[in-house]
Amino acid sequence: MTPSHPFPARYDGTCAVECGSRIHPGDMVQYVEDQLVHNGCVPADEPEPRPVCGECFMEQAVNGACGCEGMP
Ligand SMILES: [Zn+2]
Ligand SMILES: [Zn+2]
Repeated sequence: MTPSHPFPARYDGTCAVECGSRIHPGDMVQYVEDQLVHNGCVPADEPEPRPVCGECFMEQAVNGACGCEGMP
């Protein structure tokens, strides 16, 4: 989900993410999944799923290592 561009709030509100602080008119805010949040209070995106090895079906580490390491 891509957040909307930030814009100055026009109404009072409450930040929809953990911060839970009030949003005041003029604060920079943006929509994330139709929820109004402070600009900068955007929840982190889901991390990309790691590629899975076709041999051992283990997720490969960042360096490409997988369960095949050390197998005979
Ligand atoms: Zn917030
Ligand atoms: Zn493997």
